[in-house]
Amino acid sequence: MGATVGVIGAGTMGRGIAQVAACAGLEVLLHDISAEALRDASLRIASEVRSNAARGHFPEDQVATALARIHPRRALHELAESDIIIEAAAEDLELKKELFRSLDRFARPHTILATNTSSLSVTALASLTHVPASVVGMHFFNPPMRMRLVEIVRTGRTSDETIKRTSDFARMMGKTPIICNDHPGFVVNRIARPFYGEALRLLGEGVSTVEEIDRIVRLSGDFRMGPFELMDLIGIDVNYAVTQSVYERSFFEPRFRPHPIQRQMVEAGMLGRKSGKGFYSYG
Ligand code: NAD
Repeated sequence: MGATVGVIGAGTMGRGIAQVAACAGLEVLLHDISAEALRDASLRIASEVRSNAARGHFPEDQVATALARIHPRRALHELAESDIIIEAAAEDLELKKELFRSLDRFARPHTILATNTSSLSVTALASLTHVPASVVGMHFFNPPMRMRLVEIVRTGRTSDETIKRTSDFARMMGKTPIICNDHPGFVVNRIARPFYGEALRLLGEGVSTVEEIDRIVRLSGDFRMGPFELMDLIGIDVNYAVTQSVYERSFFEPRFRPHPIQRQMVEAGMLGRKSGKGFYSYG
């Protein structure tokens, strides 16, 4: 059996990471606290891999083998045999802390403990374990099947060996690892904050509309998506949580302040594509 990747969380990112790993030939143990999320993830992954094969993007004769490499697991400790565990549960520090405390109880000495957090402190999670040298950020981008970059986030205590092995895993999954230090938002989400923040302020001040701002940004910078299309893809709730986290962890730096529109949309359940309605409506 090849290397085994444990994935915690079968939402947008977790199921995407599981799919990437299985299609790259790795065994995957996929865990979610919700049985429904696990079921839904299996169905969506199967449908995506089949449709990729139908479009010639994945070998037809390897579909069944790739799907058989994903093993849903209801209990967290069933991920114990993994060589690397990638945590991709919700962006909530307390929840992630609880998960890392649990991982510390059963993970094997050689297992890398990685988090896909977008903005939270990898250092804080590492410090809860007895193996901080094995804890690292492994930040995939949405959608994981398509986005090549993975930020490998090093804390002051991550070992060189962990950085090397995590980068090797990223390469095995067909990704390009780039190493950076632990800091609120790392590199990409730090740069992305003003992108979303200014778009929300322009909208709030009535300067332009959602559609027009997206169009202008796409046309002016040759971006594939405008800021509102991208927020809908990411999830308004996830994007809001990341903004709040970068803002708080930067000692309330005004540049990173969240916008009331984000909070209102989360309160209204307008979470973007995943809820059928965000800045745009989805059928
Ligand atoms: P999501 O809401 O789509 O999925 C989160 C999943 O975690 C859900 O299925 C939920 O049931 C599960 N979960 C919650 N508590 C759990 C627990 N205790 N144990 C196991 N599973 C649990 O969220 P997402 O968009 O996939 O984001 C996951 C992580 O990835 C976050 O840290 C987020 O910041 C990060 N991230 C998100 C994006 C994005 O564009 N959405 C991009 C990069 C990184």
